[in-house]
Amino acid sequence: MKYSGFRVIREALTGHRGWGPAWRDPEPKDQYDIIVVGGGGHGLATAHYLSSVYRELSVVVLEKSWIGSGNVGRNTTLVRSNYMLAENTKFYGMSLKLWENLEQDLNYNAMVSQRGILALHHDDGGRDAQLRLANTMRMAGGDGEMLDVDQIRKLYPGLDFNNPLFPITGGFIHRRGGTARHDAVTWGYARAADRRGVDIIQNCEVTGFRIENGKCIGVETTRGFIGGKKTGVAVAGRSSQLMAKAGLRLPIESHVLQAFVTEGLKPLLPGVVTYGAGHFYISQSDKGGLVFGGDLDAYNSYAQRGNIAVLDSVLEGGLSLLPIMSRARLLRSWGGIMDMSMDGSPIIDKTHIDGLYFNGGWCYGGFKATPASGMCFAHLLSTDQPHENAAGFRLDRFRRGYVIDENGVGPTPNLH
Ligand SMILES: Cc1cc2nc3c(=O)[nH]c(=O)nc-3n(C[C@H](O)[C@H](O)[C@H](O)COP(=O)(O)OP(=O)(O)OC[C@H]3O[C@@H](n4cnc5c(N)ncnc54)[C@H](O)[C@@H]3O)c2cc1C
Repeated sequence: MKYSGFRVIREALTGHRGWGPAWRDPEPKDQYDIIVVGGGGHGLATAHYLSSVYRELSVVVLEKSWIGSGNVGRNTTLVRSNYMLAENTKFYGMSLKLWENLEQDLNYNAMVSQRGILALHHDDGGRDAQLRLANTMRMAGGDGEMLDVDQIRKLYPGLDFNNPLFPITGGFIHRRGGTARHDAVTWGYARAADRRGVDIIQNCEVTGFRIENGKCIGVETTRGFIGGKKTGVAVAGRSSQLMAKAGLRLPIESHVLQAFVTEGLKPLLPGVVTYGAGHFYISQSDKGGLVFGGDLDAYNSYAQRGNIAVLDSVLEGGLSLLPIMSRARLLRSWGGIMDMSMDGSPIIDKTHIDGLYFNGGWCYGGFKATPASGMCFAHLLSTDQPHENAAGFRLDRFRRGYVIDENGVGPTPNLH
């Protein structure tokens, strides 16, 4: 069924009896050309582009839980492309272009909203760094614009401009950045892939790989063996655990990242704001809740839940930036397992095992990467060649010393 305004009106007039399930619930077949492990944003996007752009006819997505149960349904929904290094600039630039046309491509309302992302600075050093970033982005064809205090005051009058420790001295706005509704992105990709014949199998955990003579010929699952000529793994926070079953030790650590949302408030924040003096960022959802987050837990964990210490430090940053937040009631908090790579950049590559491919290391920022990651992983799986916009994201770059370290902080995941 194609979704349209006409369809919505027709269903409204006929008691909504015409809507069908958005995707099928098929039984797994014995054999596929391509197996995608992980029904998160990246796995589903990969399946969509495999079927729509690369015309692959035999594709399955295996998800251990329900689709969207992982980080794609837990993030704070920011979409942006404000990077300095060439590899990231072209990859995230491609992603932002795909976001801009996503709803037409998927025939699904993913609520992509380019409401702008404002990064604040609080001293001359911060201003110079932002100016350099803005210029680099503009030279690469992106958008970046410096704002002075008066311009920011008009947009965000509620911020504490005269904080004695961290007064706001200006900022940098990335107007094409913004938010997208994360669940809708999951459902939109799933529906589009399903319509082209991709089997999406939920409650099917991959427990191992069947490797014969150096070639991966399929996966062991909780629903039996499923054969595949090629297997692409996109399991985000579970990357190290799962790839260890194929004998790979990845340059990835797993940490919990938390997010928080308040009760619904009247419109207060027109876009996204990031604090320059601490790790804190905030936006307002379409339902009115303030959605915010900050640092990840510094230690390794697969807990998928939060803790009070991080809540405390995130709120310290939030209240010093937006004091009126103290009057709002916190509604919910949650955590997701982040696949933190050692240089803060992702990996989309073949492994040394024939037929086994890997996509991961997305750190805090894999939601905005979803469309480009899906397209580039699909390209690799279908053609066996890296996509030109992801050619730098190789697994062996850590051995070669060619790291892509945007923040220049080295192998310290909690600083990326
Ligand atoms: C609190 C929080 C805030 C964030 N904010 C942002 C943000 O604002 N902007 C941004 O760009 N990014 C953000 N991120 C990061 C982003 O959400 C992730 O980088 C991205 O979603 C990861 O890719 P994914 O969607 O494929 O992961 P997931 O949705 O986690 O998908 C992986 C899937 O693999 C499945 N799986 C795992 N093991 C197996 C197995 N053995 N067999 C089968 N299936 C398996 C999991 O169940 C899961 O569904 C945030 C993350 C969190 C937690």
